[in-house]
Amino acid sequence: MLLQNRAVIALGLRICSTNVLKGPLMDTARPNSDMSEFRKVFSKAKHIAIITGAGVSAESGVPTFRGEHEKWRKWQSQDLASPEAFSRTPSRVWEFYHYRRELALNRKPSAAHLAIAECEARLKKQGRSVVVITQCTDDLHRQAGSKHLLKIHGSLMETRCVSCGHVAVNKRSPICAALKDKGAPDADVADAQIPVDKLPRCGERDCRGLLRPNVVFFGETMDSHILTKVEEQMETCDLCLVVGTSSIVYPAAMFGPQIASRGVPVAEFNTNTTPKTEYFTFHFQGPCGTTLPQALAQHESESI
Ligand SMILES: [Zn+2]
Repeated sequence: MLLQNRAVIALGLRICSTNVLKGPLMDTARPNSDMSEFRKVFSKAKHIAIITGAGVSAESGVPTFRGEHEKWRKWQSQDLASPEAFSRTPSRVWEFYHYRRELALNRKPSAAHLAIAECEARLKKQGRSVVVITQCTDDLHRQAGSKHLLKIHGSLMETRCVSCGHVAVNKRSPICAALKDKGAPDADVADAQIPVDKLPRCGERDCRGLLRPNVVFFGETMDSHILTKVEEQMETCDLCLVVGTSSIVYPAAMFGPQIASRGVPVAEFNTNTTPKTEYFTFHFQGPCGTTLPQALAQHESESI
């Protein structure tokens, strides 16, 4: 039922059928880490796609709930962010998302978020474009000022009705009275076991259906309209940055390699190498709040 309005997307399958999975496209064993080389490519790019992941938000203090040390109570996000978990224990899943919403509402954009937004605004005046394709569900890119934003995993600040499908922006804190002061992450906290009629409900006329966070749960497909827009950007960009993502969640993990397969330069910014590093032209290791501001700063050739 939760999936009834979600189109099945062939993008992932199409990507997997291309030759990018057969091996690295680069002749050299390692990507280039020379910032001045990257800056030359950056200065000529007209359409820049920036793919961001949890690492960008982690630098703002937003936890990913992926690692062993980042559990909410005794669970990682994949245990809670699933259609099955929401059907079985909607109260527990809403507590988890309430906690994440409140946390995200209280965080500020990082240096990386700000560098991306500043770059978009600056390049726009020069007739150049920047699009952010993000896996993050918080609102920090928007808060930083990014305008051209594709949120492929949905938004913590939106709800979707499981009955009528209505999607609405919702930044209320708390989202409903029953969740006030709930959602504490400590391992010894018991479930609040909120009755389902006290959880967030649809405000559309005569509906009152149960709301869920408008995020893509594990095992669900992405929104087809967003993916079509992503595909357009992947086909038209002439430079791609892959920032703060471990490149293990599909299909997003294939976006960078897919772009690289067109011969377009792709630069990875991450604290570590990833399974996809070998496909890319550039790799800059370190906190993206340190590397990105240098990479995206005004180039001497830019006229404003
Ligand atoms: Zn509804």
